[in-house]
Amino acid sequence: MLHLLRVNGYDFDLAIIGGGSGGYAAARTAVGAGLNTAVIEGGQEVGGLCILRGCMPTKALLYAADVLHLARKADTWGVRAAQVGFDFSRVMERKNAMIKEFAQDRARQLTGSKFKFIRATARFVDAHTLALSTGISLSARSFVISTGSVVSEPPLPSLKEAGYLTSDEALNLARPPKSMIVLGGGAVAVEFAQFLARFDTEVTLIQRSDHILRGFDADVSAELERVFRREDITIFTHTRLLDARRDGDLKEVAFEYDGRTVRVSAEEILLALGRTPNTAGLELEAVGVKTEGWRVVANARMQTSVPHIYTAGDCTGPHEIVHIAIQQGEIAAHNIAHPDRPRGINYRLLSHVVFTDPQIGVVGLSEKEATARNVPYLTARHPFNDHGKSLIMDAQDGFVKLLADPARGEILGGCCIGPMGGELIHEIIAVMAGRMTVHDLAAMPHYHPTLAEIWTYPAEELAGQIPG
Ligand SMILES: Cc1cc2nc3c(=O)[nH]c(=O)nc-3n(C[C@H](O)[C@H](O)[C@H](O)COP(=O)(O)OP(=O)(O)OC[C@H]3O[C@@H](n4cnc5c(N)ncnc54)[C@H](O)[C@@H]3O)c2cc1C
Repeated sequence: MLHLLRVNGYDFDLAIIGGGSGGYAAARTAVGAGLNTAVIEGGQEVGGLCILRGCMPTKALLYAADVLHLARKADTWGVRAAQVGFDFSRVMERKNAMIKEFAQDRARQLTGSKFKFIRATARFVDAHTLALSTGISLSARSFVISTGSVVSEPPLPSLKEAGYLTSDEALNLARPPKSMIVLGGGAVAVEFAQFLARFDTEVTLIQRSDHILRGFDADVSAELERVFRREDITIFTHTRLLDARRDGDLKEVAFEYDGRTVRVSAEEILLALGRTPNTAGLELEAVGVKTEGWRVVANARMQTSVPHIYTAGDCTGPHEIVHIAIQQGEIAAHNIAHPDRPRGINYRLLSHVVFTDPQIGVVGLSEKEATARNVPYLTARHPFNDHGKSLIMDAQDGFVKLLADPARGEILGGCCIGPMGGELIHEIIAVMAGRMTVHDLAAMPHYHPTLAEIWTYPAEELAGQIPG
């Protein structure tokens, strides 16, 4: 039985719909600011996408694929690792054990905190009241909508008939399929493609745009495509899906490529064409919260079109990344608690990491964006096949790249495709947070021999071109 203490005529100061990364961050900030807060979580399991079916399980699997890959090439360093093999059920067991632990931690945080944690699905009945699936209603002065996202519907009805896996099912495969068609070329698609290929699945990746990872600079995408092809992943880019059907035990996808129709068959299809904000069923129209294609529209303060209703995470976007969901949740709760000193979200330091091998980390301005927005920049690159530490590691794919303001030399963006790219990019995030210049970075001490010292080469090259 839920007992609600009414404050200022409402049951709660703040009710948060969704207990994932965005919702939990909002709740922590809200109780820290003294708000009487409720978190309503309607999922079958507690933990949110990142822990249960997103970041954490995929990275656990990808790390296993990296270990397998290194073991198979151990001879490079004169290490004998005869008969390298794998036990896929143990790969999955380890991942499951980690996820269970992370989810239990999150459940403890949700149930043991100073906010009320309610297990129910919520929908709005009016601008200050939620109806819960448990049959009760709950009122609040303010709200944060953080209901996450769901896998988008397939673009062809025939895909449903042929049958496909989403990332949810691919995370729980009993064995690697003999062959897999991956539809899509975003982070989820390329991470699964390489994970499966390294566990001996024959992978064909079909992407609509000219390159995989279409939001990234073309040189980054082209480098990953080169590595994927070397690892026997078949890639078709610039395609148009036409049809899908069952073909005996196999599934066939037909698509337009290079002016002809190509048909590819595989044991399974992985649909990795993106996700949609999970807002259907919240009755947002009834209370006047504006949406665009299911996405909750919000300003930089994370406030929706209804001033006391805020939002955070995948349901609002536009960047479906965990640390952004957290930042948005914290900002939303701060602004509800302190309307007199509002904060806004700023994407100057927006970063993306793709956990393939080579890993990709980018921050700030890209060349693609600079060109589209007419931002003047100078750029310099340095390849990992000309760097001491990466040669020691035999990690020779990729490069680092810096973008700098031609007048002052401030670093505007960075990109690393290479060994530990997701870690290395954090040096540039820090440098950009401090608004440092290429001269500062070039002069900064870097230990030798490290991967990180590779940043000094493009920094020095740019410092030579820009007056200090
Ligand atoms: C395969 C995969 C890999 C990924 N890898 C990464 C990565 O490496 N790095 C990264 O930064 N991001 C990654 N992401 C994205 C990341 O997981 C999401 O951006 C993040 O988890 C979104 O958090 P959220 O709080 O917005 O949503 P969620 O964590 O999905 O939380 C929303 C919660 O709301 C609940 N809910 C929904 N509707 C209702 C309702 N009506 N009433 C009550 N509760 C409701 C849900 O049950 C859910 O728990 C990945 C995503 C996928 C799919």
